[in-house]
Amino acid sequence: MKISVRAQNCTAEGAFEVLAKAKALEREKGIKVIHLEIGEPDFSTPAGIIDSCKKALDDGQTHYTPAAGIPELREAVAKYLSMHRGSDFEPQDILISTGGKLLIFATCMTFLEEGDEAIYPDPGYPPYRSAIRLAGGHPVPLPLLEEDDYRIDVERLSKLITPKTRLIILNSPQNPTGALFTREDLEKIAKVVRDSNAVIFSDEIYSHLIYGENNVHSSIASIPEMKERTVLMDGMSKTYAMTGWRLAYAAVPREFFTSMQKIINNTVSCTPTFVQYAGIEALLGDNPEVTMMKEKFCKRRSLMVNLVNQIPGFHAKEPQGAFYLFVNAKEILNKYLMTSKAFADHLLYQAGVACLGGSAFGDTGEGYIRFSYANSTPNIEEAMERIHQLVIRDFPL
Ligand code: PLP
Repeated sequence: MKISVRAQNCTAEGAFEVLAKAKALEREKGIKVIHLEIGEPDFSTPAGIIDSCKKALDDGQTHYTPAAGIPELREAVAKYLSMHRGSDFEPQDILISTGGKLLIFATCMTFLEEGDEAIYPDPGYPPYRSAIRLAGGHPVPLPLLEEDDYRIDVERLSKLITPKTRLIILNSPQNPTGALFTREDLEKIAKVVRDSNAVIFSDEIYSHLIYGENNVHSSIASIPEMKERTVLMDGMSKTYAMTGWRLAYAAVPREFFTSMQKIINNTVSCTPTFVQYAGIEALLGDNPEVTMMKEKFCKRRSLMVNLVNQIPGFHAKEPQGAFYLFVNAKEILNKYLMTSKAFADHLLYQAGVACLGGSAFGDTGEGYIRFSYANSTPNIEEAMERIHQLVIRDFPL
């Protein structure tokens, strides 16, 4: 019996692997690990959203729905996107999914033939590369560099585009760097993409989590001629603290809609019905917790940046969005000839702080570590203090 090459090429997402290691450590050694590895809000889902789910269950909304989603949620998403993305969307453009990850997979399955090239950000969210490979595509990393504030260098992008490029994945605000693309960045990207054969997958799952008065979210779909070739993805996991509900959506150009819908139809059939009803409340309801969470993330971001930069050998700029800090630890790693993964393991086993080595996000991420600041202020303070002491003890510069 043989496992397919595609399955062998598929790597598990680092955050879930480190989470499992950290949980084992807690269980077996009784150590209180501080979890800065996993990308999920530490808050509860807003009460109004939970209530609307309970109501849907009481109303008997417990059966299959159309694969594309219930009409009421598709309408709510179209309304929400039209308000927030500078472009008009119709309910028939909207595909509901059990999480954004499935939409990444569905997009790769829809657009990639064996050997087709797909460009993805490096460092970037690990499932992009896995999904490209699972679909038989050839992953082409697009390096995002600290000296460019992790924004896309359009010249570098244009050199990577070939006649075989069928898909370009963009993500802003970005995981793991927190970088945010400006409208000017997107206009420049659009210019080079316009002449290509590529569809864009625009991962906007952190669109709501942008900090600083002058920073705003821009979607490539709002740039002329781009909407027709963009699958715009957003979802409820991060903005509404709904990671476990598995709810996301995409605006899909009409000519591709039926094909993408068939992937949903043949995999999960549809998204749980009562969860979809809760999604309407998330998008259109008045849930003050959503603003509160964002304000807290913003404060924690400043706190973490401040504490990280006091640790000898650690350097990080203030990110503009998402809830991650991508820390340059090259001084330490180069001196002690360590990989970022080994260093992250050391922080877990010696300081009880779980985080991710930058290489989990691609080769360009080597030399960095990622902390999530979706954790409480006392936990962030405690984690940074533990790491500070450990670095002074084990890695003097
Ligand atoms: N895209 C990015 C950049 C992410 O960081 C995540 C989750 O961490 C997702 C997509 C997937 O989110 P979900 O599948 O929970 O909707």
